[in-house]
Amino acid sequence: MFKKLAVLSQIFCLVIIFSNLSCAQKSDGDRKMNQPVEPFRIIGNIYYVGASDVTSFLITTPRGHILIDSGFTETVPQIKTNVARLGFKLEDVKILLVNHAHYDHCGGLAELKKLTGARLLASPPDAAVLEDGGASDFRFGGDKAFSFAPVKPDELLKDGQEIDLGGVKLKTHFTFGHTKGATSWTTDVTEKGKTYKVVFMSSATTLDYTFVNNEKYPQIADDFTKTYQTFKAIKADVFLASHGQFFDLLGKAESWRAGAKTNPFIDPEGYQKFVAEITAAFEKKLNAEKAAKK
Ligand SMILES: [Zn+2]
Repeated sequence: MFKKLAVLSQIFCLVIIFSNLSCAQKSDGDRKMNQPVEPFRIIGNIYYVGASDVTSFLITTPRGHILIDSGFTETVPQIKTNVARLGFKLEDVKILLVNHAHYDHCGGLAELKKLTGARLLASPPDAAVLEDGGASDFRFGGDKAFSFAPVKPDELLKDGQEIDLGGVKLKTHFTFGHTKGATSWTTDVTEKGKTYKVVFMSSATTLDYTFVNNEKYPQIADDFTKTYQTFKAIKADVFLASHGQFFDLLGKAESWRAGAKTNPFIDPEGYQKFVAEITAAFEKKLNAEKAAKK
């Protein structure tokens, strides 16, 4: 119960930031999410190279690697060290992806692009926000505390698009709502003769958003509704997401390191439970707002 409450209360990670609008990267909430973590192999060719809460995943292939999310600007040195500690080269990253265009996930992309020379792929709505450093974000645009170094994507993704590199196939799922272009991916990995479906889930929490007559994002409620349906339909075995707190990154990493017999990241029930929780939280908020505006 405590765990569930902790997760639910922390889902609204950006709430921490609302109350601390000084410099975005320097708030206590940010620092807490950006503690170093020993890098490790999650499953198959997927590695954890991110911080204590803002995640970053490395998917290795014989023809170069894919990196999902940069974390904050300040997470980049950690990612650099982590990739090297695992025995890989940052220069071998060929494709950069981002789950959504908020500074805690994309703040380091501009620098990572310089360091790797990789191609950045993004959904069209998030690409626009990445390019203007957050200025056109429908909720946080114009607030300096939420801005980041602008970065121009090299290619626009399509919903359902398969990203193919060195035998790895990542399927793109548009999961809009948290930002207008939030994106998730799925892939299959094989370990000990078994194949598992892995989900890299975008943030899909609703923060302080307004759903009814939102002039800056009129289709917001429909987008969120579609996103939760998409998540529910994904039959994921391995649950990975944009924030460690969504899937108990630190707890699972600890038991994995301690030699757990079964890989703790294989957690289909945990995934569906989390999807059900965030869906219910959205519906409750939407209904309350509709009722209040009647
Ligand atoms: Zn966000």
